[in-house]
Amino acid sequence: MTDKIALAELLFPNVTLTPADMEARFPVRELPEGAVVSRMAPSPTGFVHLGNLVQGLTSERMCHQSSGTLFLRVEDTDAKREVPGAVQTLIEGLRHYNINFDEGATIDGDMGDYGPYRQRRRVEIYHVYAKQLVLQGEAYPCFCTEEELADIHARQEAEKANYGYFGKWAVWRDRSLEEIKEQLDKGTPYVLRFRSTGSIENKIKFTDLIKGNLELTENDIDHVLLKSDGIPTYHFAHAVDDHLMRTTHVVRGDEWLPTLPFHLQLFRSLGFKPPKYLHIGPLMKMDGESKRKLSKRKDPELALTYYHAAGFPVASVYEYLMTVLNSNFEDWRRANPDAPVDSFKFSYKKMNPAGSLFDEMKLRDVSKNVISRMSADEVFDQVVSFAEEYDKELYGHLTADPAYSKAILSIGRGGKKPRKDFAVWTDVKPYLDFFFDDWFKVVDEYPAQFERSDIRLALERFKESFDIADDSTVWFDKIKAITESLGFATDMKAYREDPAAFGGSVADVSMFLRVAVTGKLNSPDMYAAMQVLGKDRVIARIDAMLKTL
Ligand code: GLU
Repeated sequence: MTDKIALAELLFPNVTLTPADMEARFPVRELPEGAVVSRMAPSPTGFVHLGNLVQGLTSERMCHQSSGTLFLRVEDTDAKREVPGAVQTLIEGLRHYNINFDEGATIDGDMGDYGPYRQRRRVEIYHVYAKQLVLQGEAYPCFCTEEELADIHARQEAEKANYGYFGKWAVWRDRSLEEIKEQLDKGTPYVLRFRSTGSIENKIKFTDLIKGNLELTENDIDHVLLKSDGIPTYHFAHAVDDHLMRTTHVVRGDEWLPTLPFHLQLFRSLGFKPPKYLHIGPLMKMDGESKRKLSKRKDPELALTYYHAAGFPVASVYEYLMTVLNSNFEDWRRANPDAPVDSFKFSYKKMNPAGSLFDEMKLRDVSKNVISRMSADEVFDQVVSFAEEYDKELYGHLTADPAYSKAILSIGRGGKKPRKDFAVWTDVKPYLDFFFDDWFKVVDEYPAQFERSDIRLALERFKESFDIADDSTVWFDKIKAITESLGFATDMKAYREDPAAFGGSVADVSMFLRVAVTGKLNSPDMYAAMQVLGKDRVIARIDAMLKTL
């Protein structure tokens, strides 16, 4: 028995399965030509952030636009960071954003033939390949303690050497079988390390689908493959899992680029064909004059829960991320204002290799457009569900008489130029509060330049002539007649040319009515608002105002 075989048996006496068994268990997928197989591979920390969403959307679009498969793999190798319920939070959070998995971890367990999909349940599989690498002489146990590693680091610092476990610093790399056996017999904990043959003198050429052609320095570090509890590191699990799960495209954050040379070494040593990679640049924001990465610590807007609580519809965040991710999305949207967002042809070629700038004002603009295209029923449903969680009073008002609420929300909706009043659901209450008597309050005052007697006359005459059955033309003709009776201008052009010739204009007369009926200088269309309020409320409010004049 050679040392390699003896060492492999010593370290993995119970591993009887081989890589060939694994290949048989997880056969190449039968999918149409060009189908993308990709995954989300989050750690279950309970924190779902925009970065997850960007990565998820990119993978999801690529898979589902190519009749491929998207799966969810839970990377739970770091038990310390795991938060109970995190997988559920994640799956539900992503589902809101239309990211649905065809396969993988679900709330009720695994679904699909390439599992288990939680890494801690795959230990047996990793050990097959760990044993294989030991047999090939490409992995070895390292018994260094934390103190010894700290000491190596300190000496590297003193010598101004590069940090890490490599070359002469890799003190367990070439130990004899006897020395290893002695430690094992004593029960000394160990990690399994990769025996790197790379050198930092060499460069590798690599093409990333987002970043383009890259030249990266080879890896010379003997990185850890299995931790002392036998659980793999991200790197080793990535190579084994993405091979066996037959991932064709790995979409991930570009913080993984520095370890890519190591990952490529692993794929080669394991005899696997590497997937294609798409390394996404970070999400950035402007901080004063300069750009910086969004940070979990400083920027609450990194968390997906932020958008939910702020009242952004999911569709707005989705649409905004599309504008950020694909440089041609906005042109497409202008040309196809009513098309469903998933009919847009997403392409990784339109992604910015340097990352994207996140701008909440732009998100608000996008959101106004998205909401303006929704039907009143849709707006009603979404506001009600938002209010149920965040504003019980609003919830009570809206649901007391749904037909009334929907009539309010219909104002200015539909048609060629829908109003763009709402960016977030918290904009709804101040917009429609005056429709509810217990909320109605005169908040704005009549501008001082108008004679109270003119306002009074206008309100009285309107009240006398008001008929709820009038159509908007008749209604407006009556307002024009009142305008003339006051000596105000009905012709806005004439008024603008010589304002001093008139006491005011038809716009001012409308404003007199507006303040009385809505309590505000700005409101939705007055005719439509009066139709919804109904005759009694309109008259009652005008009467109340008259009493104050
Ligand atoms: N668990 C890794 C992370 O959350 C996954 C990276 C990848 O997609 O490969 O960053």
